[in-house]
Amino acid sequence: MPELPEVETTCRGIAPRIQGETIEKVIIRQTKLRWPIPQNLNTKIKNQIINSVTRRGKYLLLTTDMGTVIIHLGMSGSLRVIASNLAAEKHDHVDIVFKNGTCLRLRDPRRFGAVLFTADDPMQHKLLNNLGPEPLEKDFNTNYLFNKSRKRSVTIKSFIMDSKIVVGVGNIYASESLFKAGIHPKKAAGQVTKGKYSLLVKAIKTVLKAAIKSGGTTLKDFTKSDGKPGYFKQKLSVYGRKGEPCPICGKAITHSVIGQRATYYCTHCQI
Ligand SMILES: [Zn+2]
Repeated sequence: MPELPEVETTCRGIAPRIQGETIEKVIIRQTKLRWPIPQNLNTKIKNQIINSVTRRGKYLLLTTDMGTVIIHLGMSGSLRVIASNLAAEKHDHVDIVFKNGTCLRLRDPRRFGAVLFTADDPMQHKLLNNLGPEPLEKDFNTNYLFNKSRKRSVTIKSFIMDSKIVVGVGNIYASESLFKAGIHPKKAAGQVTKGKYSLLVKAIKTVLKAAIKSGGTTLKDFTKSDGKPGYFKQKLSVYGRKGEPCPICGKAITHSVIGQRATYYCTHCQI
């Protein structure tokens, strides 16, 4: 599933290729994604110029003078900027075609993605207006996370994966960050000390930055037409390593399920 680093990498990959380009039309081959694609999307954005391409959480925002296209990649979505006359394949559901002969093509085999439009401030859209801070921004810091966690009995892992608390800490990144910070994933959020939150905030930022960096160098060419999402694997310390030795103490990594999500940790190093 595309996580925040992949979405950020996608944003950086497509932005220089579509910013400033004029939209000729929108081709919708399949309207039934997670939510139906608005039928008037073509009317709304035809002849508009893409002013900016930004990311908020895992949403990509293509801003025009008429409003903003909100794109979510769901479970399996990917975006490429390719020649618009290249034949579409089975799961290529949407093209935003530009007057320069290229198009932004969304491929989404599982169709959990979304393409929406708002004429208003996108930050007030119902999908975005409850989102917590961006993990790499300054307002995501020790004081913020510590204060939010007081009296919370939810596990620390579920707490940091809650997008109302902070966006973009997916399942893999939660396990890896908790390992780095030495915090047991089942500990109640309200019981974690401020000192540990300081380590955790640093760990989350480090893990996500490393993932974005690896994406920037190893991920895809956004102009290739093979359509393979090519989401990157990064070096993981605990995630997916059940029974393997902990990189710090050598004890076998434990696996359990928290909030219905696979969780990996070291019972010796994480308390
Ligand atoms: Zn260990």
